[in-house]
Amino acid sequence: MTPILVSHPIFHTPRHTGRHPLAIRRVGALIDFLKALAWLPPDQYREGTAADRETLLAFHDVAYVDALMRANNPDIDQKVLREHFKIGTLDNPIYPDLFERTSLLVGNAIFAAELALQKRHVFFVPGGTHHGRPDRASGFCFTNDPVFTIRHWLDKGLQRIAYIDFDAHHGDGVEDAFTADPRVLCVSVHEKKRWPNSGLTHTPTALNFPVPKGFDDTGLNALLAHDILPALDHFSPEALFVMSGADALHGDPLCGLALSIPALRGALLEVLQRAPIGVIVGGGGYNPWNAVRHWAALWAALQGYSIPTSLPPAARAILEGLEAPRIPKARIAPEWLTRLD
Ligand SMILES: [Zn+2]
Repeated sequence: MTPILVSHPIFHTPRHTGRHPLAIRRVGALIDFLKALAWLPPDQYREGTAADRETLLAFHDVAYVDALMRANNPDIDQKVLREHFKIGTLDNPIYPDLFERTSLLVGNAIFAAELALQKRHVFFVPGGTHHGRPDRASGFCFTNDPVFTIRHWLDKGLQRIAYIDFDAHHGDGVEDAFTADPRVLCVSVHEKKRWPNSGLTHTPTALNFPVPKGFDDTGLNALLAHDILPALDHFSPEALFVMSGADALHGDPLCGLALSIPALRGALLEVLQRAPIGVIVGGGGYNPWNAVRHWAALWAALQGYSIPTSLPPAARAILEGLEAPRIPKARIAPEWLTRLD
């Protein structure tokens, strides 16, 4: 089946401001970029609807969901929101349509899961809030969309689901959600001594690979060949949830890993061959040039498009228009504006 890209216009404009690492255009820029390359046929782009309160309560606590719903109410005690639910902190600031956006994230995560059940790979670009907790926000994540995708597959009767997380941060919220469920194998490759500083050892349901600063393509290929692919082949998943790991690429302003776009894409494609049902999400990535180029090249590979050696002017103009508060203009590498790989 042909791959589908799932998003929603609400994710196409950033909500964060100032020096927040997510005050960057990523998903909207990717959509524009794919259109500039004629890589997003209308029949391969889909939008889902928002999850209702009952759906959110399948994972999140009632007090937390109510706090998310009321976060923009002027009468609510902001100190309680911050201290009890981590809503309104520096990491997790409140923005005007917070509840609408978080419930659309969950609704689209379930929509992506359902589309993938038709035995296809679905690229749900805005997804990947792997730190979200049942009772609080954490690490820029208000809900936990991977949990909802995986739970939808479990509800539909799948028995072996692998969660593979190449994001530079440990997928702590997802691992903890399924720690007692042998139907879900969690695999996370993440930078050592990097927040949230968890995921240091394997557990009965999780394989954790903390890797040092500077971890590069050679290290990734060795880890894949010796550990990750054999473990996946042994587990024999029916469905895969994959975090694309744009913040594990060389040049991320928050993280210290040093992967190249072709090597990371190669790893993702190797993993995705292990099951006919798959959801891939964008996840972290605070260098918008890397995120857009990595996601675009991954989508091209899923489609079978060849990657051009140089970009047409309309696509270059989108990369040239990007800005990031954590990356001074002088540090923008020339290839970030001219090449995909
Ligand atoms: Zn991350």
